[in-house]
Amino acid sequence: HPSLVWFRDDLRVADNPALRAALAHGPTVALYVLDQDSPGIRPLGGAARWWLHHALVDLAASLKHLNVPLVLRRGPAAAVVPQAAEDCGAGHVAWNRRYGGPERDADSAVKAAVRAAGRTAESFHASLLHEPWELATRQGTHYRVFTPFWRELSGRDHRNPLPAPRGQESPRGIQAALESDDLADWGLLPTRPDWSGPLAEAWEPGEAAGHRLLEEFVGARSGRGAPTGPAGLAAYPDTRDLPARGGTSRLSPYLRWGHVSPFQVWHAVAGHRRDAPEGSAVFASELGWREFAWHTLYHRPDLGTANLRPEFDAYPWHRADGGDSRAGGADDDGDARALLAAWQRGRTGFPIVDAGQRELWATGWMHNRVRMVSASLLVKNLGIHWRAGEEWFWDTLVDADAASNPFNWQWVAGSGADASPFFRIFNPEAQAKKFDPDGEYARAWIPELGTDGYPEQCVDLAQSRAAALEAYREAKDAG
Ligand code: FAD
Repeated sequence: HPSLVWFRDDLRVADNPALRAALAHGPTVALYVLDQDSPGIRPLGGAARWWLHHALVDLAASLKHLNVPLVLRRGPAAAVVPQAAEDCGAGHVAWNRRYGGPERDADSAVKAAVRAAGRTAESFHASLLHEPWELATRQGTHYRVFTPFWRELSGRDHRNPLPAPRGQESPRGIQAALESDDLADWGLLPTRPDWSGPLAEAWEPGEAAGHRLLEEFVGARSGRGAPTGPAGLAAYPDTRDLPARGGTSRLSPYLRWGHVSPFQVWHAVAGHRRDAPEGSAVFASELGWREFAWHTLYHRPDLGTANLRPEFDAYPWHRADGGDSRAGGADDDGDARALLAAWQRGRTGFPIVDAGQRELWATGWMHNRVRMVSASLLVKNLGIHWRAGEEWFWDTLVDADAASNPFNWQWVAGSGADASPFFRIFNPEAQAKKFDPDGEYARAWIPELGTDGYPEQCVDLAQSRAAALEAYREAKDAG
């Protein structure tokens, strides 16, 4: 019997246990489903759609080398996957597990339908070093604090990555029976206007490009790397907070789409524990934050919509979307909307924030330090709800995912797991002095910096800081 392998957030052929299992069962067909219809599934943002288009072109080419056809279909997974299995007469359907709430519900529905039709369905562990139910505190609860979580997880052995599988004979008969959508008909690429030029300059979506980046980053030594290239693992502790230096790996979209697996990254880094001990430890712990975000989402599927700390429900954030605002009337909402727009377009008058927002708009990515400073300005100084920022990032980031994005927004806002305490309000001027001391990063993204064309600061930092602290005290008392 043929086998069907259903690709999702694991767009790679190496270290892909579901693909291996399918090939071991028999002639294999691959499936990708554009699912915007299953209950609760969040439609992809614009930058993610752009990435996905190119990622699918790349995946189809890699699978072709293995003689595995890739079939594209659209619709709710619970209907589409069993139908595709039927169409190719598959006896076996395989996929790698997902951990978000609506995704798990969809996968359960698929599993039930596939089994009801007399086929086997098998799922695998591939996208995280740990599965969220594998780790628990001594009290048997999930982790809410990063340090003990990471101590436990990093102390474990993590399996070696699986090599790319060998291909198969061309499964001609099945291929003919399967209709596939034309990728172009999915309309994933922006057209009017086409804003994707700078994204295409910044990124090459796909598995091979992800591995090149990983090897370059892990292999590069301080002093030996090209000055504009990644500074590498050894220099990571010193350069990772300097946005002008490009000292981080830029692997986030490759991990997001599964071009690179966490096992591949973990073992690549572990190979340098001797020659770059500090760099490999610090970098591995960043991978740990990704794991922690997914651990949190699994146990709190409402991470993207609800404050994890309920006392924040009484905090008077502006929604800035015309929705209900606790804080005030129409005027307040109008102001909040204008401030949100200034923040989105990089016109707040705070250069490090504006540079970050423009980098995001142009390239679909923003440096982590700048993400923190920019998010803090939005939720603490401008008083706008973290959900408005999270939604903007969701639409504009090529690495946006259902766990890391809301997790980090809640972390900055103070409402999240192991969050930064609310009173820790980043000062964007002090942060710029420390992390972009020569203003190199700011100038790179703001050509009109220092001219009349650059906006005034949109908020008084001291006043807004005091107001935020006061609002927090009141919310805590009310909560
Ligand atoms: P590196 O420094 O090279 O880190 C290596 C990898 O570790 C990253 O690729 C990423 O997978 C992981 N990582 C590092 N920091 C974090 C973190 N704080 N949380 C989770 N994983 C982390 N990251 C996303 O992948 N998707 C998001 O949607 C996302 N939204 C964010 C929103 C806000 C408000 C903030 C403050 C941070 C967000 N991050 C998100 C985390 C972080 O900014 C990015 O992962 C990082 O900037 C990616 O660049 P890099 O690959 O060069 O990172």
